[in-house]
Amino acid sequence: MRERRVKPNYRKPGFFWQGVLILAPMIVLAKLGALAIWQDKRMAEHDAELRAQDLAEQVADRLSVAWLGYQASNTHHILIDFDGNLLSPPPMRSGEIAPDTTLTTEQATLLERARHAEFTTKNVAESTNLFRQFLATAPPPSHAQQARYSLALLASSSGDTNLAAQLFRELLNDPAPAPGDAGGDLKALSHLKLALMGESSLDAACSNALAFPTPLTPQILRAVYSQPSPEARGTAERWWKTWQQDELNRYLYAKIRPSFQTNTASGTNTFRSLKEKQIEPPAWLWVGVTNEEVFTESIRGEVPQVVGSDFVDSSVPAGANRFNLRSGRADTARLLKRRPHPDGNLLAVSPAPDLAEWAVASVKKLRAPDYFGVSLVIGNYDVIRPLDLPAVVSSGGAKGAGRTWMKTHHTEPPPAIATATRVNEPELPFLVRVHLVGKDLLSEQQNARSTWIRMVLVVAGATAIFGFISAYRAFHKQLRLAEMKSNFVSSVSHELRAPIASVRLMAEGLERGKITEPEKKQEYYRFITQECRRLSSMIENVLDFARIEQGRKQYEFEPTDVGALVEETVKLMEPYAAERGVHLTLVAAEVTRLHSNDEFAASGEVDQSLLTSAATVAIVDGQAVHQALVNLIDNAIKHSPMGEEVHVSLDQSPSATSISVQDSGPGIPATEHEKIFERFYRLGSELRRETPGVGIGLSIVKHVVEAHSGRVLVESEVGHGSRFTIELPITAETRKGGEEI
Ligand code: ADP
Repeated sequence: MRERRVKPNYRKPGFFWQGVLILAPMIVLAKLGALAIWQDKRMAEHDAELRAQDLAEQVADRLSVAWLGYQASNTHHILIDFDGNLLSPPPMRSGEIAPDTTLTTEQATLLERARHAEFTTKNVAESTNLFRQFLATAPPPSHAQQARYSLALLASSSGDTNLAAQLFRELLNDPAPAPGDAGGDLKALSHLKLALMGESSLDAACSNALAFPTPLTPQILRAVYSQPSPEARGTAERWWKTWQQDELNRYLYAKIRPSFQTNTASGTNTFRSLKEKQIEPPAWLWVGVTNEEVFTESIRGEVPQVVGSDFVDSSVPAGANRFNLRSGRADTARLLKRRPHPDGNLLAVSPAPDLAEWAVASVKKLRAPDYFGVSLVIGNYDVIRPLDLPAVVSSGGAKGAGRTWMKTHHTEPPPAIATATRVNEPELPFLVRVHLVGKDLLSEQQNARSTWIRMVLVVAGATAIFGFISAYRAFHKQLRLAEMKSNFVSSVSHELRAPIASVRLMAEGLERGKITEPEKKQEYYRFITQECRRLSSMIENVLDFARIEQGRKQYEFEPTDVGALVEETVKLMEPYAAERGVHLTLVAAEVTRLHSNDEFAASGEVDQSLLTSAATVAIVDGQAVHQALVNLIDNAIKHSPMGEEVHVSLDQSPSATSISVQDSGPGIPATEHEKIFERFYRLGSELRRETPGVGIGLSIVKHVVEAHSGRVLVESEVGHGSRFTIELPITAETRKGGEEI
């Protein structure tokens, strides 16, 4: 015969998909969270790049504009020759006659007489005559020019304008210089006179006065200024400004002159040495000079009107002397456009503060965020210096690149994340770089956000894991319950099969008349009755259990004499106990009832001293309590060894009715005290067959007692027997019900 196993037609429940469903959203959430953090960081970096570019452009624009203004208002050009002599503006000349121009005695006498006639006797004709005689002696050129000038003035005062104009022109046409004895330049004065006579323009007079600067030049400008016509005034003012500029430049030249004067030791000066080495000298030199100093020493007192603060730069601290000639620096030459000049070198003199400071101040005004550093290259020279501006680093490919940064940070400066360039007039390239110097500062906000996201993820993860564990435990519990249920079915079948088989055997024996002895017959009948009662009690239990499980179990509360109920139950169980060789005794019940109609009481098994006379009537479901008690007694008998005793006692206190069943069985370990009340739970294996039972008795007891608002207590120790107590509370209502009986 071939055995063949067929699988059950249901699938064994699994936890895999439930677990996946609980944990999968968590995993997806974690991935999304990580993605969000990453994207947040990327966006912040991108945003920083855009802002850096914006900042670089702004700085470049600002510097361009500032540079233009700086160029226009603050830079002065001075032209020098290779020996360092001033070419432009024209150097100031003294109007005095050079000491080497000597006159002959005759010439000197003639000149003195002419002057005398001119100033003291005011004899125009005589002085004119004498000056003409003097000129006829061919005097040295400067003296001749002076004589011409005097003649022209005399002609003018006598009203002969034409002659005067002619004489002034003669003087001007003579290439010889014409220094006046009062320190002025006679040519400049002649131009003025011609202009005042209407022979030439006032503008030309001013221009010529500035071309030959002498201490009298301001007076010439003043003379023009005091002319009645408004044009004259405007012209004078315009030229006055140029004059001031020239004066300032001459002053600056005087200041810097020692720096490129001939070196006495080597016999060369800076420029010439460069020229000799055939190195092209720098086209520009930079000199910083405090304006105030210039203004006070050179200009004050000469100003016909307040010109304004053209030369006052408020950013320069008063009294500071920033005289600083950077001659011969190769990078200075590259810094600005080369302007070759046939005669010499152009000297750019800046009375503004140092260029680097000026650039830093410009950047500062933009208030760049702390995490950005700005470095600036002007020309090929890395000008920016950090000063007190932490955001600015000196970096880049030019000279001094990153030195300041490295000094304080001991690392390479961070690479630029944005650059902007401008080429300005006169071709001055700016390169602005923005570096991310404080990455931590930038990502501060992102870090805070990331922390939040991480916290949410951790909480979500913990919740998911907690859910997973509890679902897994519930699943296991369910699985175990299903197992216990199937064990229950086999236990019930087993419990039914054995007694039914014996009952059948006995009944068949009786039927066939095999049993003849009346005593034996009686015993068979008793056994059959007993087993049937036991079986129906078990079936009752199973049915009750089914009702409880389905929530259909109903209790009918009515006044019941609990004493009598206990007594009856004990009596009912007595034969079963006797069969198992166990002594079942009742130790507490209502005295009167026991005495009057009970042989059981009369048998003397009742401990008289314990009997109470109190009424044991209460409102309960008598049937259910009976069943609960049967279960307890049944358990006690089942677990008691032969010859031992099982005591049932009833105790009535004003607040509760307690029924206890005590045995001397094996006892129950403390850890199991709660579990034994669970459905299908049996100590040891569920399929244990030493003691009959299916594992639902105590769960029914618990349900019944709890339906009465009572409780079941278990006192047991391994090896010392067990005591189960049902406590049913007596409320006002139940007491009243009792009295009514
Ligand atoms: P069963 O049908 O197995 O008796 P119960 O619910 O009545 O089911 O009891 C549950 C378990 O409690 C029993 O299997 C038994 O191990 C234990 N138990 C109950 N009463 C006693 C007792 N008086 N002494 C020892 N163990 C007991």
